[in-house]
Amino acid sequence: METIKITKAAELKPHPAPETLVFGKTFTDHMFLMDYHTGQGWHDPRIVPYGPLALDPSSMVFHYAQEVFEGMKAYRTPEGKVQLFRPYENARRINASCERLCIPAIPEEDFVAAVKALVQVDESWVPDQLGTSLYIRPFVFAADASLGVHASHSYIFCIICCPVGAYYPEGINPVKIYVENEDVRAVRGGTGYTKCGGNYAASIRAGERAEEQGYSQVLWLDGVERKYIEEVGAMNVLFKVDGAVITPKLTGSVLPGITRKSCLELLKSWGVPVEERLITAQELFDAAQAGKLEEAWGSGTAAVVSPIGELAWGEQKVTINGGQIGPLTQKLYDTLTGIQWGTQPDPFGWIVPVE
Ligand SMILES: *Cc1c(COP(=O)(O)O)cnc(C)c1O
Repeated sequence: METIKITKAAELKPHPAPETLVFGKTFTDHMFLMDYHTGQGWHDPRIVPYGPLALDPSSMVFHYAQEVFEGMKAYRTPEGKVQLFRPYENARRINASCERLCIPAIPEEDFVAAVKALVQVDESWVPDQLGTSLYIRPFVFAADASLGVHASHSYIFCIICCPVGAYYPEGINPVKIYVENEDVRAVRGGTGYTKCGGNYAASIRAGERAEEQGYSQVLWLDGVERKYIEEVGAMNVLFKVDGAVITPKLTGSVLPGITRKSCLELLKSWGVPVEERLITAQELFDAAQAGKLEEAWGSGTAAVVSPIGELAWGEQKVTINGGQIGPLTQKLYDTLTGIQWGTQPDPFGWIVPVE
């Protein structure tokens, strides 16, 4: 990558108090941009003041959703340093997403260098209160001004950041989830394993209906047989059944979460048996009826873990661990957040400092 050209904002915005932050509404002073044109490759990496982009109304992204994104965070340690958690995993995943959507790859080193450079410029936006962080949203989209359905010849890679408050300001409260029988999020052969905007568009209706009925999110089933559990909302899902942790295997319609992967690696290091396999909703509810569904939780960058306290499937309802967070879920939460915020050692080499 060429040298990143930095143009500082003439006026800096005030930083809202961390308690008042609403996820994804406040953005930092700068953003990263880089352009791609066929024949030229990625060029003109730059950091500029945060602001609107001017795009032709015929830009391909508006019509055919040729777009992918990532979600990651920068954390401030007790010593005041700023660090990233497994950013090369995000770099690899955005390229897996790009490949599926015929978007040109971004070299992994360039992706991480761009994230680091932007976080450095907006370093003062990384909050330091307990549980707060700077959420980082890299995304790439097709920019050709053309309505033809084919791969674009021009793309824009952009990174924006927003300071986020603690995900659990009132402590961790398990959520209520129901099994979604109508809508599906993704199918094998489709784009389920990528972070592309279209997957989210397809998931919104189910999420809205769940909220209307007093549930936080839905448990997605596979799109072919409508039998196998895939994810919970926009998180991966893990269950502790009879002493072992089981989680849906990555069949192509499940997003390969970095938090999921980190949970599995931690569990293995603790000697907890782990199984990645197909799990039917029937098996899960049978286990619950037999008193063997000990814990259930979602995993993702935003929440780290989100315990499930109640599961509904049609008329059947089960309560998990008395509606409380389970001990293993709590241990994963404490260990992951300890490593991320630098209050615990990082024996796996997951942390990348932002110099
Ligand atoms: C991003 C995402 C996840 C979680 O991935 P992390 O890397 O752990 O943040 C899970 N499921 C879906 C659908 C996602 O988009």
